[in-house]
Amino acid sequence: LISRKWRVNPTLIDLGDGVVIGEGNFSIMAGPCSIESERQIELVVEHLKANNVKIMRGGVFKPRSSPYAFRGMGLEGLRMFHQHCRQNGIKIITEVMQVSQIEDMMDYVDVFQVGARNSQNFNLLDALGEAQKPVLLKRGISGTLEELLQAAEYIFSNGNEKIMLCERGIRSYENAYRNVLDLNAVPVLKAKTHLPVIVDPSHGIGLRDHVEPMSLAAVMAGADGVIYETHQKPEEAFSDGQQTVNFQESERLIKRMRQAFELR
Ligand code: PEP
Ligand code: MN
Repeated sequence: LISRKWRVNPTLIDLGDGVVIGEGNFSIMAGPCSIESERQIELVVEHLKANNVKIMRGGVFKPRSSPYAFRGMGLEGLRMFHQHCRQNGIKIITEVMQVSQIEDMMDYVDVFQVGARNSQNFNLLDALGEAQKPVLLKRGISGTLEELLQAAEYIFSNGNEKIMLCERGIRSYENAYRNVLDLNAVPVLKAKTHLPVIVDPSHGIGLRDHVEPMSLAAVMAGADGVIYETHQKPEEAFSDGQQTVNFQESERLIKRMRQAFELR
């Protein structure tokens, strides 16, 4: 169902208030790895508004490699996140980690993010298929494109067509950076499926100084959008600070991605 053979025209995902993701648009989603405080939400919202960015990312349920690391502010954080974004006309994307969270999160979320670690959690995918809310589905840590497409098929076949695929880097033997951002995936996925393709350069390379060139490369590779991490003080971020750009870098990145998209 997600194949170009089944549907030729690209799928567009309408989040309301003129925010549409897919072919012809370049969607920017930015924000911290984790929602940390009300003040932080205010600062990020202000930064996004100043740059006309309509979608804010931020995790409240965090999949962490260590159980002792910060695991997110949970529903309380999500309600705060929602309140500030709603007031400022900004849409919310945040990660859902398990089926039981969907119902509680439903009213506060515009896009459910499925993380790389949950990319093949088939129960979660089935449930999101029934949930009728847009989903950003990340590629698994060592996932093939075929596995990503089949995972999307789980959601789609349950009746939810509002799916975007996300390339976020795959694990390799190279340890000079966190992951290998596989930009080959962009044109290949775009040819195989009618779904929008988004790139996450922050997790893809894991090094803040190199987020900009990889984002620009993603634009030129044909991505329908980019999701990246920004924070008022990346050095103090509770998670993923090493790959998080500050607001000044973020502003420059936004301008340059928009220029690149114009050239495409
Ligand atoms: C994130 O977006 O912060 C995240 C945990 O991403 P991924 O699932 O790609 O590792
Ligand atoms: Mn992160």
